[in-house]
Amino acid sequence: MLSMTNEEVKKAAAFFTREIEKLASGRSLRLMEVCGTHTVSIFKSGIRQLLPENVELVSGPGCPVCVTPNEYLDTAIAYSRKSDVMITTFGDMLKVPGSSSTLAKEKAQGSDIRIVYSSLEALEFAAKNPGKKVIFLAVGFETTAPTAAAAILMADEAHLTNFYVLSAHKLVPPALRALLASGKSHVDGFLLPGHVSAIIGLQPYDFLSKEYHIPGVVAGFEPLDILQAVYMLMLQIHDQTARLENQYSRIVPKEGNPSACTILSQVYQQTDAVWRGLGKIPNSGMSIREKYQAFDALLNIPIIVEETKEASQCQCGKVLRGLLQPSACLLFGKACRPEHPIGSCMVSVEGTCAAWYKYGAGRWQV
Ligand code: SF4
Repeated sequence: MLSMTNEEVKKAAAFFTREIEKLASGRSLRLMEVCGTHTVSIFKSGIRQLLPENVELVSGPGCPVCVTPNEYLDTAIAYSRKSDVMITTFGDMLKVPGSSSTLAKEKAQGSDIRIVYSSLEALEFAAKNPGKKVIFLAVGFETTAPTAAAAILMADEAHLTNFYVLSAHKLVPPALRALLASGKSHVDGFLLPGHVSAIIGLQPYDFLSKEYHIPGVVAGFEPLDILQAVYMLMLQIHDQTARLENQYSRIVPKEGNPSACTILSQVYQQTDAVWRGLGKIPNSGMSIREKYQAFDALLNIPIIVEETKEASQCQCGKVLRGLLQPSACLLFGKACRPEHPIGSCMVSVEGTCAAWYKYGAGRWQV
């Protein structure tokens, strides 16, 4: 696909668009793009406008910052107020509202909060600041969790005693299962996340077709990848079949990345986790195994956390379950904007509300 000329790309896009329209005729369908990177690519490239009106794309719970619950933010904020603690975090997390504050506000008031681009950078801060307890805010899916696991292994090898992880890592397949089990998020097919699948492979999604008879296609991130994946879903729906297919085979091997999975299971174990909007989902999180518990912030640094409060009018929970498009939220584009987010879905560049605001505000109606 990368080697195609512009003319070839246009022809292929026209073919997929035409065929999707034919296959969708007489139906009303909802396809969920699970991953936030897909959401952004769909908005940037105008794919929604290319699809017929009876094929609706809805975003799912695949933006890691968006699904991180207030409780986690409140814990990170409470840690940041301790004078002997340095918080290291991806920049996206700074503006996410907790119950009564944000990390950005705490930083402005003097908390030691550093933005990092990887967990390994957090490790460097720990090595250079032996007088501080350096906590890495480990937020992300199967894609980023292996690097946090590698940082823990490296800290162990280096006998670092001031590096800690506050884990909010999450697993995508259990969240999809929870969405389907709830019976509320009516979805006719899933565009599955390419990056996550490159780590976990295809097998963890088998239940979609086997237990729920729902088609799934692992998709790449170029606009043509997404159009082709929608076309592949439409073919299955038209044929009344349900399979797991891989549109992104140039990057996603069937078996995923066994080395990354080995590091993950060496350091982490599956545990129940709370997702914003979806509540507690069995086996959808990752906690640090007993062998590496010296690096678990919660087990080693006592903290008192304020009682969790949710922003009362924010509809992020419904947005993350595909039950509501952002423009149907009364705060969208008014009280809630990227420079003043009320909910997490307006913070991250991969957040559905942020993508709607940046690329589509006022142009698409629910
Ligand atoms: S527009 Fe803002 S308040 Fe409304 S659901 Fe999105 S993030 Fe929440």
